[in-house]
Order: sequence, then structure tokens, then C-alpha cells
Amino acid sequence: MRHVAIVGSGPAGYYTAETLQKADDIAVDVIDRLPVPYGLIRTGVAPDHQSIKAVSRRYEGTALTDNVRFVGHVSVGTDVTIDELVELYDAVILATGAPNDRPLDIPGAHLPGVIGSAAFVGWYNGHPDFADLDPPLDAPGVVVIGNGNVALDVARILAKTPDEFAGSDIVAHARDALAGSAVRHIQILGRRGPHQIAMTPKELGELGHLERASPRVDPADLPPEGDDALLEPGMRKSVTHLRSFSANPVAKPVTIDFDFFAMPVAIEGDDRVRRVIVERTTLDADLTSHGTGETYALDAGLVVSCIGYQTPPIPGVPYEHGRGRFASDEGRILPGLYAVGWARRGPSGTIGTNKPDGARIGEMVLEDIGRGAGKAGRPGLDALLASRNVTPVTFRDWRRIEEAEVAAALDGRPREKFTSVEAMLAALGR
Ligand code: NAP
Repeated sequence: MRHVAIVGSGPAGYYTAETLQKADDIAVDVIDRLPVPYGLIRTGVAPDHQSIKAVSRRYEGTALTDNVRFVGHVSVGTDVTIDELVELYDAVILATGAPNDRPLDIPGAHLPGVIGSAAFVGWYNGHPDFADLDPPLDAPGVVVIGNGNVALDVARILAKTPDEFAGSDIVAHARDALAGSAVRHIQILGRRGPHQIAMTPKELGELGHLERASPRVDPADLPPEGDDALLEPGMRKSVTHLRSFSANPVAKPVTIDFDFFAMPVAIEGDDRVRRVIVERTTLDADLTSHGTGETYALDAGLVVSCIGYQTPPIPGVPYEHGRGRFASDEGRILPGLYAVGWARRGPSGTIGTNKPDGARIGEMVLEDIGRGAGKAGRPGLDALLASRNVTPVTFRDWRRIEEAEVAAALDGRPREKFTSVEAMLAALGR
């Protein structure tokens, strides 16, 4: 029997498990520190994007195969170390994603009301780490920093009416807070221009259909229309949306302004954030931005920094600090230790990008471990955890948690998520 441990039960973890479980004579343990599986699908993908979340049914298919096991509520680093896992399993695959925000390294970034997207997204998605975030929504101005899809998610969630969350699984605390929100002006800052955005057309197009919010682009920021022909098709579609926003005559009560060539250089306030100081930029020939020296201030009671993510380092595991991911040779970190998904590549691509990645790393691992080295594997982990009084949450347990979440949902919502580990365990009678 060959034994493989995957740390992290998000898309990268389950796509890798999907490939591994097709081999015979293999036992795959998918370990997660939360009692609930699916990582970013549950706590990252926007709650009003249920069709994307539906991919979890595919992971469920993998989780229910005989040779795959979910080992929830087990924290690697606390309940069991990486070294112990490497000792117990033929291969350990880190699929830990990139849950930490890249730091916003400007003066004032520490002020209350300046929040990273990991925390803000986790808050509205019910991640137990961020349930108590309580973001300030009492001022009309919000600044969203970054020109990626996460910035779009954040702006859209801030702009939606309660009715527009119908059918979503946004958690109750966020639903209630957003229903009473005073936010009226959302500024999305991009340090480069419309041709350098990292926003995909579908997500950008959604902003054009919001009930009470209108997206706006300053026509002066747009390059000549003929230049769009040079863009790849997806990007061209995105820029077409921006052009339509620039010609948008509809004024709704909430505005979402795309502020291009705009780099935040300082955040000011007293006991909380009050304004963001922004410097105008221009682009160099290599399309990097530099400041022009011209600055202006934007009033804001909340700043959400959506400038990308990092994988948290693990002591003893080689790490690329500049890129915020594990150092690996195409996925091989050290003998018996691998990385997959964002922990390997960095935080880029869609959920689907993890499918070929997981397949490739799964095949690589199968090739490397051969018939296995007779390691202790599953029984070894169980004995170790029992000796530490750690009781894992099984996949069957998760299904009970899920049933309780579905049963608690009202008004056509798919589920009412538990937002604390205690509540999840209470659903199991623990
Ligand atoms: P991202 O796509 O890498 O975008 C990060 C943005 O932050 C870029 O516009 C970048 O600008 C900007 N930025 C970085 N450092 C900055 C700084 N110091 N000051 C100002 N701006 C800065 O990251 P993301 O939005 O977090 O998304 C992560 C991944 O998840 C992406 O692959 C995304 O497509 C995916 N995602 C997909 C969906 C979906 O498909 N619905 C939803 C959410 C996320 P520069 O270009 O100038 O560096």
C-alpha cells in the first residue's frame, strides 16, 4: 500500500486526490485544519457565484471514493508536524493555497479600517478566522486597491442590495451589516491602465447590471480604441466593458469609479482611516508604473487592499520570499515533499487552472513513490493523533455539518454557514 497525505482540501488538493485515487493500492489522506472541506470554494469564491461553487460536487465525488479520506480539524504544525507526515507517508503534498494578503507597504496601512482582501472576503464568506472582522461600513467612501478579480468581487459585494443576495450563501453577519451600509462611493484604484487590468470579462460585465450601483470610467483614461485590436480576446472583451462604463449615462445611488493610473502612497486618519493619498502614475515602456508627483486625496472610511496573496511559510520548508510560495522544482520541494496549486505557482489563474496542475503533480508523485516504501501511513497518523487526543472530523461528519447548514437556510438560500469552529463541532454534538 502506498500512502499519500495532501495538506489542504481546496481545489488543488482535491484535483490532486482525483488523479491519485485512480491508481490502485493507494490510500490518500486529505488533511485540513478546518472541520469543513473545499478551501477557497467555500471561503474565497464569492457567495453570489454559486455556479462556480458547484464544482465542490466534483470534489465530493473524489472524497467519497474508497481510497480517499478527509481528515478535518487537524492542524499541520500544531497537531502534527510536516516532518512527522513525511516520516509517515510516501509523499506529502502541500496544497495550502495562498491565504495571506500581500502586505500593503505604505504609511498608514496599519490604521483601523484598512483591511486585506483575505480578511474581507473571509468575513462575508464565513471563514472562522474573520467572523469577527466587523468592517466599518458607516462612511460613504470606500477605496478598493488593485485591478484584479478580487477587487471586482469586493466592489460588487459592497454595492449589492439585500435582494441581490437572493440565492447566495453570504453569511448572516455580512448580510445584515451590508443591509445597513452607508457606502455610496466605491473607488477602485489601479496603479496601471485599462489595458493592464487583471479582470476577466464575465466578472467585469456583472458590474454593469447592478440594481443600485453604476460603474464609471473616465474616458480620458482609455487608450485609443484601435489599440484594443492588439489585446488577446478575453482582455479585449474586458476593455470593451470598461468602454461601455465610460459612456454610461445612468446615475444610480451608488457609484463604482475605476480610477486608473492611481497609486496609493499613504493612508491618513486618526483612530481610523479617513482618507487615501493617491499619486498619479504613467507607464514606462516596459508597462511598469511610476509616480508623477501629482497627488490627491480620496475620503474613505474603509480601505480594502486586493493586491494578491501569499502562501504562509512553514519552518524548515524551502520558500521563495519574493514570490510568496514554496520553493520547488516544478512541484518537488524536498524528497517526499511536494507543492501544488497556489502554494506551488503563486496566486494566479482560476479554479480550473488547478485541474491540470493537480493531475500533473499527482502523476509525478505516483512515478516518484513507485510501489511505496512500506510506510505507516493512515494507521500511523491515526495512532499519533489519538496519542495527542486529537479527534479528526471525517467526511461523514462534514456531511452532517452540511446538512445542518442546509436545514438552517431560509428564503431560498442554499445554506446558512456556520462561522465558527465551535458551531461546526456543536453540529456534531462535540
Ligand atoms: P491579481 O489578479 O494578481 O491582481 C492583483 C492586482 O493588484 C493587480 O491589478 C496589481 O497591479 C495590483 N497590485 C499589486 N500590488 C500592488 C500595490 N502595491 N499597489 C497597488 N496595486 C497593486 O490578484 P487577485 O485579484 O487577488 O486574484 C487572485 C487570483 O484569483 C487571480 O488569478 C484571479 O483571477 C483569481 N480570481 C478569480 C475570480 C473569478 O474568476 N471569478 C474571482 C476572484 C479571484 P499590477 O498589475 O500593476 O501588478
